[in-house]
Amino acid sequence: MLEIKEKSITVRIDTSKCDTCETKACAAACKKFARGYLQIKDGKPSVDHLTPEEILRLGTECLACEIACKFDGNKAIEIDVPIEGLDAYLAKRGLA
Ligand code: SF4
Repeated sequence: MLEIKEKSITVRIDTSKCDTCETKACAAACKKFARGYLQIKDGKPSVDHLTPEEILRLGTECLACEIACKFDGNKAIEIDVPIEGLDAYLAKRGLA
């Protein structure tokens, strides 16, 4: 499991699903829609070439890797996007 912490989100990649992925769509989407910090190393996405500080500086929180992996990869990426007050809002609206 690769866990990447950006400013307000956490990207979790189940890299055990990546060996059989033919598209490596996550890295292509990162390069096309963000700053391309996600690179493929030994067949899996990696940020080994960056420090945690560089990830914070380069991360755009664009979610492109998750969407690309969901539709063109092996559904290996989940991004946690905490929204302060959302639970209380949903409860107030009867949607919790
Ligand atoms: S697109 Fe998904 S399954 Fe394919 S290499 Fe990237 S994270 Fe792994």
